[in-house]
Amino acid sequence: MKVPFVSLERQYLELRSELIAEFDRVGRSGIYIMGEALERFEREAADFCGTRFALGLANGSDALFLALKALEIGCGDEVITCPNSFIATAWTIVAAGATPIFVDAKDDYNIDPDKISNLITSKTRAIIPVHLTGRVVDMDAINAVAKKYGLLVIEDAAQALGAEYKNKRAGSLGMVGCFSLHPLKNLGVYGDGGLLTTDNEEIYRKILKLRNHGLINRDECELWGYNSRLDSLQAAFASIKLKRLDQWNSRNRAIASFYRNALKSYVWVPYDKSYEKPIYHNFVIRTPKRDALRKFLDHHGVETRIHYPIPIHLQRSAQKMKHKRGDFPVVESLAETMLSLPIYPELRDDEMHHVVETIKNFNFN
Ligand SMILES: *Cc1c(COP(=O)(O)O)cnc(C)c1O
Repeated sequence: MKVPFVSLERQYLELRSELIAEFDRVGRSGIYIMGEALERFEREAADFCGTRFALGLANGSDALFLALKALEIGCGDEVITCPNSFIATAWTIVAAGATPIFVDAKDDYNIDPDKISNLITSKTRAIIPVHLTGRVVDMDAINAVAKKYGLLVIEDAAQALGAEYKNKRAGSLGMVGCFSLHPLKNLGVYGDGGLLTTDNEEIYRKILKLRNHGLINRDECELWGYNSRLDSLQAAFASIKLKRLDQWNSRNRAIASFYRNALKSYVWVPYDKSYEKPIYHNFVIRTPKRDALRKFLDHHGVETRIHYPIPIHLQRSAQKMKHKRGDFPVVESLAETMLSLPIYPELRDDEMHHVVETIKNFNFN
């Protein structure tokens, strides 16, 4: 039996007739950039996240970058984040002209809020907590530090659309929420896509201009901008998927719960706090025998991944920051022991049983 790590084809086939109908509708409208399909998706996304505003952008990295630009964070500024993330969390800070300041993680893979205060300087402007694996960071703790030192909070919620923390959704817990609609995220479009949420009207209005060349109408440009819009077709496809997202996220939680119960005496498994509802973008187990287990699973048809094998502070691109192994011991030890199992709403019951049975047959001694 083969269990693929992802299978985008299954979801495509399930939605195919609806997608084709939308393609035809947008095609006949002749409006491929902005317009009704994008505005509709933005209204739905704002409702879904519980924010006043949402904006469709070209990708998730642009959401982070434009959030920093709109908040005028750049040259000479420091932004605190976690080195256990996808590389875009850090490069967007650098692209904005600011300096990323890294903080170690906790064993739930997310930034450790207790380690932030020590790193705050007169240059610190913002914190970017990353809701890694679809689990929302302890935002009460983040917002308390931010308030104390007058910092802005930008959520990197790329992996957490629909995830909840104390009955609020990712994207509604800071000043700005940034999401990716990359095909491998829990709401993936058919190409690149991004989404930004906020309750702040001024930020919303500014990014509305920034993403469209700085234009305020067809001919007048108010500020130097960028070209970063979610295509109308992708917005239309995203609307189809958003209707199903709560159901898909629940299915992911059910798979996570099955994995947790079946595997907890064999490997480290993630647990949920009573006040949180992660969406399990990834289900990440840990074992000191990670590499051998991975090989064993592969041999038995189970595809796995590692998110992420090289912490950002140890990437070649980060060399100038002069970090070394040992600077962030939790993140570094996670990188050596963690393993992501297949998890997606279309994963079949026989497949998840096969994953579990294979792990149980592995020799952990
Ligand atoms: C995917 C991802 C991004 C970047 O999103 P893109 O749409 O690929 O630009 C940023 N941060 C995290 C944590 C991600 O997982």
